[in-house]
Amino acid sequence: MTATRALVARVTEGKAYAVGFEGLTLEDWPAGEVVIRVAHSGLNYKDALAITGRAPIIRSFPMVLGIDLAGEVVSSDSARFAAGDKVLVNGWGLSETRWGGYSELVRMPESVVQPLPAEFSTEQAMQIGTAGYTAMLCVMALTDHGLQPGRDAVLVTGASGGVGAVAVSLLARAGFHVIAVSGRAEQEGFLRALGAAEVLGRDAISAGGRPMAKERWSGVVDVAGGALLADAIAQTRYDGIVAACGMAGGGGLETTVYPFILRGVTLRGVDSVMVPMARRERAWARLATELDRGLLAELSETHDFRALPKLAADLLEGRLKGRIAVRL
Ligand code: NDP
Repeated sequence: MTATRALVARVTEGKAYAVGFEGLTLEDWPAGEVVIRVAHSGLNYKDALAITGRAPIIRSFPMVLGIDLAGEVVSSDSARFAAGDKVLVNGWGLSETRWGGYSELVRMPESVVQPLPAEFSTEQAMQIGTAGYTAMLCVMALTDHGLQPGRDAVLVTGASGGVGAVAVSLLARAGFHVIAVSGRAEQEGFLRALGAAEVLGRDAISAGGRPMAKERWSGVVDVAGGALLADAIAQTRYDGIVAACGMAGGGGLETTVYPFILRGVTLRGVDSVMVPMARRERAWARLATELDRGLLAELSETHDFRALPKLAADLLEGRLKGRIAVRL
């Protein structure tokens, strides 16, 4: 059986683990009903952490990395999929407990595979990737809570990153007043092109360490965690909602109960990994109708998957913006 290329993490002597390209055959893969030729994957913050070993993402070894994939079914023992179907997989423990998408050929259990929406190519789906689909899960948290375009202002932190840029673009297109927060002043033009009405530095949203300050926005999409999340909560309007999905600025959170019990603010955690299939399909269906594909192209780059080790370091050093897809 011919070997195909994959990016694999293995425990090596004297090192936590090493990451490198290897040839794998289908026989190496864990059991599963659906064999997929991967056309594209993507680079998310979690992928960058796993590739560089900067945080303990991988929970069993050896591990094929990559939390996302999109491609074409080669063979299927599942009644739900047939050879030639275009499919995608996001999360579900890929690159943590389950072999992932940085591999030319993969074998997956049918329960994690979903049809690729007809509106998207495999490249577009991976330009969206987990980051973009998580942005939509956050937007759904806000709109399900009752926030209304044309009336409400929404703060987006880490706005020039993958989740943030897609969130800015989705919210602005829907008609929300988007306040984008970025640590990189040079990204203002990019963020305004995505539809941000205001672009602020991180200091400009400081609440001065107070748990409650003047009300400024009704909704928040937060990828930062830490001090920025505390600042965001402190300035959320009465009955507003904060969708917290990330920890790019830290895993801590210092606040008090007062924003919750005096302003009725909702803190909504957003996880993309184990979301039930019905909500995933709703998120992807909304992306198919609400995401501006022209803007998606502008906020995305596609690279060869051999560039992943360098791209991962660049992402963690803040040298990338928007979304990164990789071609296999
Ligand atoms: P990116 O690296 O593309 O973007 C993160 C952005 O956060 C950066 O571009 C930067 O934006 C901002 N940032 C970086 N460092 C800090 C800091 N110290 N303080 C405040 N902001 C900072 O990552 P993604 O968009 O892919 O992911 C963002 C976060 O969301 C990550 O923590 C990731 O783990 C999480 N995530 C969670 C998911 C879930 O299921 N809950 C799914 C997907 C992502 P700028 O320079 O504009 O400030």
